[in-house]
Amino acid sequence: MDDCLFCKIAAGEIPSSKLFEDDTLLAFYDIDPQAPVHFLVIPKKHISSAADLTEEDAALLGHIYAVIARLCKELGVAESGYRVVTNVGEDAGQSVKHLHFHVLAKRSLAWPPG
Ligand code: 5GP
Ligand code: ZN
Repeated sequence: MDDCLFCKIAAGEIPSSKLFEDDTLLAFYDIDPQAPVHFLVIPKKHISSAADLTEEDAALLGHIYAVIARLCKELGVAESGYRVVTNVGEDAGQSVKHLHFHVLAKRSLAWPPG
């Protein structure tokens, strides 16, 4: 999609610090980390937010979570724990309108979130 920051990152038009990439998704470190480990996982196809997911995205979502689980094992945070979160809309603070999953780890994370 034109004028979408994460579509441009997915296409390699804007550089990112990549952890993993395949045909359907990209995992890269957040530019403004909120924890010692903070990366994002995005589908390569443009989906505006989790509010636009349909049953047809079931395989994609399963793949995203499987990749997150594998990356967290590789990064050594699977045992200490991590948080996966996706913000939807204004009240949740979604600033980039392309579906992304934050993965935060290596510090104690407060609950409930602010
Ligand atoms: P949101 O606020 O929409 O849930 O999360 C967007 C995230 O994207 C933020 O954590 C922000 O730091 C990150 N971000 C924004 N622009 C860039 C960028 O150009 N590169 C990377 N790696 N992360 C970005
Ligand atoms: Zn996009």
